[in-house]
Amino acid sequence: MEIAKRTENGSGQCVHLCRPPPAPDLPMQHRGADSGYNALAPPRAYPAPSLPPAPSRLLPSDLPAPHPPCPGSAAVRSPGSRFASSLRVLCSPPRRSAVFWRPWIDDGGEKEQEAPHNAVEAVPLKQGRSLMDWIRLTKSGKDLTGLKGRLIEVTEEELKKHNKKDDCWICIRGFVYNVSPYMEYHPGGEDELMRAAGSDGTDLFDQVHRWVNYESMLKECLVGRMAMKPAFPKDYHEEKKVLNGMLPQSQVTDTLAKEGPSSPSYDWFQTDSLVTIVIYTKQKDINLDSVIVDHRDDSFRAETVIKDYSYLVHVALSHEIQEDFSVLVVENVGKIEIVLKKKENTSWKCLGHPQENHNSFIPKKDTGLFYRKCQLVSKEDVTHDTKLFCLMLPPSTHLEVPVGQHVYLRLPITGTEIVKPYTPVCDSLFSEFKEPVLPNNIYIYFLIKIYPAGFFTPELDQLQIGDYVSVSNPEGNFIISQLQELEDLFLLAAGTGFTPMVKVLNYALTNIPSLRKVKLMFFNKTEDDIIWRSQLEKLAFKDKRFEVEFVLSAPTSEWSGKQGYISPALLSEFLKRRSDTSKVLICLCGPTPFTEQGMKMLHDLNFSKDEIHSFTA
Ligand code: FAD
Ligand code: NAD
Repeated sequence: MEIAKRTENGSGQCVHLCRPPPAPDLPMQHRGADSGYNALAPPRAYPAPSLPPAPSRLLPSDLPAPHPPCPGSAAVRSPGSRFASSLRVLCSPPRRSAVFWRPWIDDGGEKEQEAPHNAVEAVPLKQGRSLMDWIRLTKSGKDLTGLKGRLIEVTEEELKKHNKKDDCWICIRGFVYNVSPYMEYHPGGEDELMRAAGSDGTDLFDQVHRWVNYESMLKECLVGRMAMKPAFPKDYHEEKKVLNGMLPQSQVTDTLAKEGPSSPSYDWFQTDSLVTIVIYTKQKDINLDSVIVDHRDDSFRAETVIKDYSYLVHVALSHEIQEDFSVLVVENVGKIEIVLKKKENTSWKCLGHPQENHNSFIPKKDTGLFYRKCQLVSKEDVTHDTKLFCLMLPPSTHLEVPVGQHVYLRLPITGTEIVKPYTPVCDSLFSEFKEPVLPNNIYIYFLIKIYPAGFFTPELDQLQIGDYVSVSNPEGNFIISQLQELEDLFLLAAGTGFTPMVKVLNYALTNIPSLRKVKLMFFNKTEDDIIWRSQLEKLAFKDKRFEVEFVLSAPTSEWSGKQGYISPALLSEFLKRRSDTSKVLICLCGPTPFTEQGMKMLHDLNFSKDEIHSFTA
């Protein structure tokens, strides 16, 4: 009853409803019986699952949790294990590399142009060494590990021995791959790959593209798993070993007490027709976009993002529920309520059975990306090569992508799952230009440029209305509070680097009362490449706070506007702050050389780090 009272108190304040409201609530009848995990504080560890014998041909997902650590790694990781993250804080991270493990999913529209200077060096691949060629080779049936299909347990000593180009093994999350056959296909170059030779490459991999589906891309190179060898810190006791993806209690408490917010908790209660799951975040700045809910078959998953941490409620529900549900947030007390509709009016004895990582609270960077299938509902030409895609979320998903964040789209291409990042936009630049015909919390819009010679976008363009594409949870390091009390907002966008600016612009003009000026400098090759040009011009006409300037790098002779690449001269003329003390933010996004050069120029112009945000992967 205590929970019921809190709900009444809170609901008069700041409640958002994101889906149709549930049927009128009936008087509370049963509080959920304690099922052993329906507790206010997270249980910290589950009994160790018994390890099945290794089948003759395994994929990482078939294998039981391996037992790192591996040599040469700053941190120790294993699939589903959070032990690594606690060790990570004790060790200094390895040197960051921009190209290590950039192999399978390339993010570079920037490759179309020669960088004037400061460009990221790309290593040219030999003829016949493209991603497609690699996929072909993996499907040829050739023995790429040299083990004739056997999988072995690899000791640290054994791993260390395989440290040469023609005999190179690398461990990722406890699974060992022979990457020698892959060397020539790695766009980051052989030397980058060799940095992890004979050791654990997990951290290097994670720093660049942890979302890359390496299990699928390298499955034919899988040698086996690391052999069990407890090599834990001196004060680590065997019984504390982490299984089921949970840190032992002491590690959760110690790590988070030092580094992060306090752990949320959850509870649940029921009426005849409804089951309400309540998440107490213990944070005030919780919003509807802080929680992502997915219900698929009997699996129910609610991930709450709190700063850089993720709290997960993940259960197999004990009874069936209807497809739709509602999510409510009481912002001022940081409480989230997820109201599920029962299929049958029976009393539930327990909520269900815990699934992987249930009731865990871990750094977001250590969580895997979760995908759901979304349906393509429309596709509209915006420029000669850029289209507005509208995807519909399944009714059993609640997902709102926060301003400035991106998601990953995933498609099977020639039998391999390929993912690329994209930044959702609004359906139009400013809602007044177009009546919103579709509610925003069910549809996600993307402005996507189709590269005829690209790997992913031509496939995306082939999708027909009604086809499906998988969409991940959001990622990104833009924080909305960067816009608070802002006076001047400057946006420097190049090509599709315009996409993160759309929501930032929209949010700032609508929600930041202190805002005096928003100026967009939009760099494109030609006039035909300018995305939403007439909308931008109309907005500038309508809202005197907004100004837009187009700069073309390959204009026709008729162009009378600004020309060239980003330059100190262009920036110093454009970035006029009102006074030395005015609060300013400059956002940059575009091809990597554009962003890198822009960052350097802004530093040279004496803008501080806090005044600059660059959008990157
Ligand atoms: P790729 O295969 O990557 O090729 C792109 C271009 O490079 C093509 O012209 C191709 O011919 C050329 N190329 C490829 N390989 C080589 C090579 N070895 N040498 C020379 N040229 C080569 N894009 C959007 O359109 N909209 C967005 O909202 C968006 N959001 C993003 C968000 C983030 C965080 C990031 C990092 C990127 C974003 N992108 C966005 C870019 C997007 O992720 C892809 O990089 C882009 O769609 C190209 O993918 P592709 O596979 O079709 O092309
Ligand atoms: P593009 O090739 O059409 O170029 C647009 C403009 O960028 C050019 O007119 C020029 O002014 C500038 N530019 C291009 N190459 C440059 C170079 N070498 N040096 C300096 N300036 C340069 O751009 P596009 O094909 O639309 O590509 C957009 C890029 O933005 C892609 O690389 C994409 O990955 C990136 N992007 C990143 C994010 C993100 O990180 N959040 C979001 C969207 C797009």
